[in-house]
Amino acid sequence: MADIRGLCAKYDPELWFPLPKDEASTAAAKAVCARCEARLGCLTVALDRNYEFGIWGGMTEEERRAIRRRGGQADVLRLVGTLV
Ligand code: SF4
Repeated sequence: MADIRGLCAKYDPELWFPLPKDEASTAAAKAVCARCEARLGCLTVALDRNYEFGIWGGMTEEERRAIRRRGGQADVLRLVGTLV
């Protein structure tokens, strides 16, 4: 969100930082990300910079941590295939 002008610029930024277990807000933010053309770049920046909090590129912090634990690269390449 900080470096990339995506669809989230049109919404309240708080939506991308939901409280724990706020599944409705998380789903709403992810739905916007799913339609965002900047999604892959956004996710790449978040992974490269180890952003710990918030939804970036349509993924929660827990989902990004899971990518890092698995080594990251293969998952990101798989995402490229699903995002284009
Ligand atoms: S992918 Fe989501 S968080 Fe990233 S720029 Fe797009 S709408 Fe914003």
